[in-house]
Amino acid sequence: MRTESKAGPEQALVDQFGRTAVDLRVSLTDRCNLRCTYCMPAEGLPWLPRQEVLTDDEVNRLVGLAVTRLGVTQIRFTGGEPLLRPGLAGIVAAAASLRPRPRISLTTNAIGLARLAPDLKAAGLDRVNVSLDTLDPVRFKALAHRDRLGDTVKGLEAAAAAGLSPVKINSVLMRGVNDDEAVPLLRFALEHGYQLRFIEQMPLDAQHGWSRENMVTAEEILARLRGAFALSQDPAPRGAAPAETWLVDGGPAKVGVIGAVTRPFCGDCDRTRLTADGQVRACLFSTTETDLRGLLRDGANDDAIAEAWRETMWAKRPGHGIDDKTFLQPPRPMSAIGG
Ligand code: SAM
Ligand code: SF4
Repeated sequence: MRTESKAGPEQALVDQFGRTAVDLRVSLTDRCNLRCTYCMPAEGLPWLPRQEVLTDDEVNRLVGLAVTRLGVTQIRFTGGEPLLRPGLAGIVAAAASLRPRPRISLTTNAIGLARLAPDLKAAGLDRVNVSLDTLDPVRFKALAHRDRLGDTVKGLEAAAAAGLSPVKINSVLMRGVNDDEAVPLLRFALEHGYQLRFIEQMPLDAQHGWSRENMVTAEEILARLRGAFALSQDPAPRGAAPAETWLVDGGPAKVGVIGAVTRPFCGDCDRTRLTADGQVRACLFSTTETDLRGLLRDGANDDAIAEAWRETMWAKRPGHGIDDKTFLQPPRPMSAIGG
């Protein structure tokens, strides 16, 4: 659902193409306890030095400024793995105390959520997106380099039990790895009342292993699903949502497909991104970013920080350009940007 910015035209995060950013993605850490092959190498990455990562107070100040001065209405905490951030519940509570109160969500691999879900709900978390690419423990171990399928499944159950609703699942399919699991993953989601969305694999892995030929496209995913389910166009308006959604067997259950590469939705994008080290990015695929941490630590006032954020968004490009001959994968991988 699209939420209009409540900031006046002079305050909102608008760009030259008429888009307004109201959805802030905040990466709370670049570290992770999994090593999904499409995201990072098995040995991990050189993590950001701790002193470069924003403190809880710095995150809270920037989130507060985004909501109260720049018209942001939705906050998604991500990473890396955001459940690894010790101050997560406090950061969620600070966001929930803002007025107008933003909607608050979390993208997570759900390891540890079984323990943390009630506290996060009490702190003000509204909902979660859990990444789950396979239901087979052997494959999970091969894909994520850790034997943790059971923890993710328990995390999903705890999220639902805590009332974090809706519980969404994000799945990335890879050719010859898990592309035969489109139907089982949807069956699993339907059985448990989770909302499943498939995401096309994007060129954002640290190893630069992405290739268009190996990417399982939205069309292929839909064809596989249509082999087992009747899919019909969802009558609900899509707004700025990245997923196109279909009713499954007449509804009300739905399935989503995020065709980030083959069906780009850049024209409706309403996102702005803050990395764990305090850099603002206009797009996942930006090759430039603005150093808000430097401004913060140099004692800049809120006006100056807000203006730097607005300038970054004003310069947002019309699209991600993956299909352009000149496309350059951003130097930061997904785990360091915040997916
Ligand atoms: N660790 C958390 C998780 O996995 O949900 C949050 C961070 S992760 C970078 C956010 C989302 O990005 C996940 O749903 C993951 O599947 C997705 N992702 C990571 N690398 C990707 C890639 N190369 N292409 C598409 N999606 C990717
Ligand atoms: Fe970690 Fe999420 Fe990347 Fe997997 S996708 S390695 S869980 S940050």
